[in-house]
Amino acid sequence: MTTILDGKSLALKLRGDIRAEVDAHRVKGLRAPHLAAILVGDDGASKTYVNSKEKDCEYVGFHSSVHRLKSDVSEADLLELIRSINDNSDIDGLIVQLPLPKHIDATKITEAINPEIDVDGFHTISVGKLTKNEDTYISATPFGVIKLIEEYGIETKGKHCVVIGRSNIVGRPMSILMSRGGNPGECTVTLCHRYTKNISVHTKMADIVIVAVGIPKFLKGDMVKPGAVVIDVGITRVETNNDKGYELVGDVDYDAVKSQCSAITPVPGGVGPMTRYGLLFNTLKSYKKKQGL
Ligand code: NAD
Repeated sequence: MTTILDGKSLALKLRGDIRAEVDAHRVKGLRAPHLAAILVGDDGASKTYVNSKEKDCEYVGFHSSVHRLKSDVSEADLLELIRSINDNSDIDGLIVQLPLPKHIDATKITEAINPEIDVDGFHTISVGKLTKNEDTYISATPFGVIKLIEEYGIETKGKHCVVIGRSNIVGRPMSILMSRGGNPGECTVTLCHRYTKNISVHTKMADIVIVAVGIPKFLKGDMVKPGAVVIDVGITRVETNNDKGYELVGDVDYDAVKSQCSAITPVPGGVGPMTRYGLLFNTLKSYKKKQGL
């Protein structure tokens, strides 16, 4: 029997825990945690992501503020806004939704965020601390995957994990977390990317496969060892004739792989909700530090 790693239900429960904790702090007279977001331009997917972050905040009792800026905003004005948010001691988390328009240097923007409120975990200081296994904000998707693995009690000690994709926000931190020591994180890790030859040679040896490439149904059934655990990070909008005009498709050929493996995340309803939980977790963590809790 294949276990479906139900990120949706797990995230719902974990969000409930956050809401209960926030309620308890509010009863004691403390302010609500506050997440600020900056959205530049009209990108449809970015708007959707920011809207869902606002909804998540509302659900758990966080205050959220969204700064919606025109796509032609200057880099200097954006930096000024970030500085003013950094200086506001009542704000616990700041995220700048990526991608940014071409005339803005995304690295400069990421580095301008005060690491103390860098709840996306993209700042060099956050990434450096993660690499050294120091306490920090782990970016939401790798954090969500680790939490999912932990909650489902998936063993990592002595296991071989293959991560496919080496992006700064998913694949690379994922590979570090899976081998950093502690539970879960005791795997031997192989990191594959676009120039890896014969990927299936690696994936067929893996006890855990984590795929983050952005290519629908990239991981096929014959690429997986029987009994492996498969985590699908990918989300691609593929056009279809349904009401929305598209469906969300993962990087795993779900039906074919499911019949091979011992556990698998669905898309949607797997890693996505856990990512959303990760941002709330980080914001609460910052809040608690600020409140001395
Ligand atoms: P990215 O484009 O930054 O990185 C993709 C990686 O895949 C690269 O490192 C590249 O080397 C590798 N790659 C590309 N083609 C390959 C191939 N043929 N063989 C092996 N490796 C290959 O993407 P990303 O930001 O890491 O996102 C990856 C996917 O995860 C996307 O579908 C994205 O939408 C999704 N995503 C989901 C969540 C979530 O919450 N579920 C969060 C972030 C990203």
